[in-house]
Amino acid sequence: MIKDIFDAPLRELNTFGIEARANRLVEFSTADDLRSLRDVFEGQWRVLGGGSNIVLTGDYHGVVLKSAGRERAVLESGLVRVEAGVVWDDFVAWSVEQGLWGAENLSGIPGTVGAAPIQNIGAYGAEAKDIIDSVEMFDPERFEVRELTNAECRFGYRDSVFKRGLRGVVVAVNFRLSRDAAPKLDYGGLRTAVGDDPTLGNIRRTVIGIRDSKLPDPAVQGNAGSFFKNPVVPAAVAAKLLEEYPDMPVYDAATGTKKLAAGWLIDRAGWRGRALGRAGVHSQQALVLVNLGGATGADILALAKAVQADVLAKFGVAIDMEVNIW
Ligand code: FAD
Ligand code: NAP
Repeated sequence: MIKDIFDAPLRELNTFGIEARANRLVEFSTADDLRSLRDVFEGQWRVLGGGSNIVLTGDYHGVVLKSAGRERAVLESGLVRVEAGVVWDDFVAWSVEQGLWGAENLSGIPGTVGAAPIQNIGAYGAEAKDIIDSVEMFDPERFEVRELTNAECRFGYRDSVFKRGLRGVVVAVNFRLSRDAAPKLDYGGLRTAVGDDPTLGNIRRTVIGIRDSKLPDPAVQGNAGSFFKNPVVPAAVAAKLLEEYPDMPVYDAATGTKKLAAGWLIDRAGWRGRALGRAGVHSQQALVLVNLGGATGADILALAKAVQADVLAKFGVAIDMEVNIW
């Protein structure tokens, strides 16, 4: 065990900067550490990564487990095994330096490797599922590590089996990266921004540059990135909305459905830059809710619910939260 802290403060451990405490915080590095924690798994427990996709709604009366595993190894199979506690963007930076393709569009996403499969992180036309070979998860029911294949993870848009009831602790992720150049530049203006230098290093720099210019830095203003998922609606619903709002962005999704931009709906409903108490909708990116200073989880949720209700009333479209409510 690396650390075992009772009555642990969580404010520095979540990017919203919400004040809360946990009865106990245990840092582990290996599955053997977890095996020695039988008492923990008999009670209430949760796993925390970098805290960049959670809203704390109060003190946690249980044990918060946090991975301190920082190992990375290239296996004989060619897969890259990365422990859960590695900072996601450090892994991406390393892969780019090694000339390995697959993770570059996911540059600049906060958080840890262990959390990447949970919501199948995605950005700029790429998703973690495209490069995840398998996920090693400590299963507290069986008290052993299970290796879930990519198919068993049942990845979807910001979704996976881990968000659908499979409880466990991710201890490592095995990635399949490629030495063959395979730039993915079809997203928005990425191809133009990358220009005539579609190298790994330039794609990474370009993505980080766009992100830095658009997204609020959690170190300056607390936030958890996109608060809501983009709604996927029947194609007929999208067509009807387009009659009324011809400038509404609509993207292809699975057959018979279309993806709408939640940020556009929120903006169009008049919420961009608005505040409710100590919580606000970011003035440049309406998909991001921000802590205006001293916000509680209840403040953030009150704003989120007001936004959801208004978007539903104005457009007839439900927008689900992407963040995890603790
Ligand atoms: P946490 O917030 O700590 O946890 C998130 C969830 O994963 C929780 O339910 C937690 O219990 C679970 N979890 C964490 N670690 C483990 C583990 N080892 N085992 C089991 N469960 C675990 N997301 C995107 O998809 N794309 C983006 O482009 C993106 N941009 C962002 C930009 C900003 C500025 C911010 C603040 C967030 C952004 N996010 C984005 C959201 C966030 O970065 C991701 O969801 C990230 O994967 C969360 O990682 P984390 O380690 O901080 O997880
Ligand atoms: P953006 O480029 O302004 O686009 C707005 C929305 O339209 C995005 O949510 C995106 O959906 C969708 N979109 C745009 N072009 C698309 C295309 N060619 N094909 C399919 N969908 C398209 O969005 P942004 O806020 O600046 O974010 C840029 C990227 O980073 C997006 O992929 C976004 O998901 C990701 N991001 C995620 C978070 C998070 O917390 N989850 C935070 C910041 C950025 P998708 O979201 O499905 O890609």
